[in-house]
Amino acid sequence: MLRVLRFLLHLLLVVLLTILTQVGGIVYAISLLGHGYIRRKFLHRWQRILAQGLSFSALYLLFALFLVPAIAKPLGRVPLPLTATRYVKPAHLWTCLLNRHYVKPELREITFAVAEEMQKKYPGTFVKYLDANFPFIDKFPLPPHLSHIDGKKLDLSFQYRDHKTGEISPGVPSWLGYGICEEPRPGEENRPEACAEKGYWQYNLLRRIIPQGSKKRYLFDEAGTRAMVQAFVSKNGVRRILIEPHLKARLGLTSAKVRFHGCQAVRHDDHIHVELL
Ligand SMILES: [Zn+2]
Repeated sequence: MLRVLRFLLHLLLVVLLTILTQVGGIVYAISLLGHGYIRRKFLHRWQRILAQGLSFSALYLLFALFLVPAIAKPLGRVPLPLTATRYVKPAHLWTCLLNRHYVKPELREITFAVAEEMQKKYPGTFVKYLDANFPFIDKFPLPPHLSHIDGKKLDLSFQYRDHKTGEISPGVPSWLGYGICEEPRPGEENRPEACAEKGYWQYNLLRRIIPQGSKKRYLFDEAGTRAMVQAFVSKNGVRRILIEPHLKARLGLTSAKVRFHGCQAVRHDDHIHVELL
């Protein structure tokens, strides 16, 4: 009975880690090979759990930092930078630790080009990315995103300024990167409300879950965000950019590439979504 329960627990962890990180489940399965040695080596239960946790963590980091990028590259996806590089950086490092920062090489080059243009226009600006794609296999889902399955999709944080100083801010208001929204103002088109009224419960889910307290430290940088969207629009390889209609109107974005995504997705007034042709 105990063996069955232990097997089910391992299986559950493999599934969860695969959903969350794509390769974490395989890494966990490999790390199980060392559990026999750890059981013989350590007598106390807590020592074993600690040793198992550490061996998995070390193996996972080895994969995430070295093996996965090396294997993904010839298969057509490259990681976005872990640290600020050519004015591109992750909004949160956990995006990279979970292997959710892989894109087609063309999308990485476009992102670098946009960041360098932004830097010339607004020195001190970084393009801060959120979820991109997993490193391997087209159509492998990246929950909770519907379309981040082929290396051609990239979510980006808006540009912000420090509420007190007005300076360009290197940070983002949400600890998750999502869920802190530039809400529709009175008189603006309000798709979040319209989608909720149609019964799309998921549309505003993150807005409801994520604590909104840190929003007051940030000012939405309209000029910076507009310049960033327009720089992406100007790239031939970019197929479309998704943003809430009230922000498209507020920022004066007129390109046909800038579109509404539909109520089946989630609201896009907390981030923008860029995708390649
Ligand atoms: Zn997206």
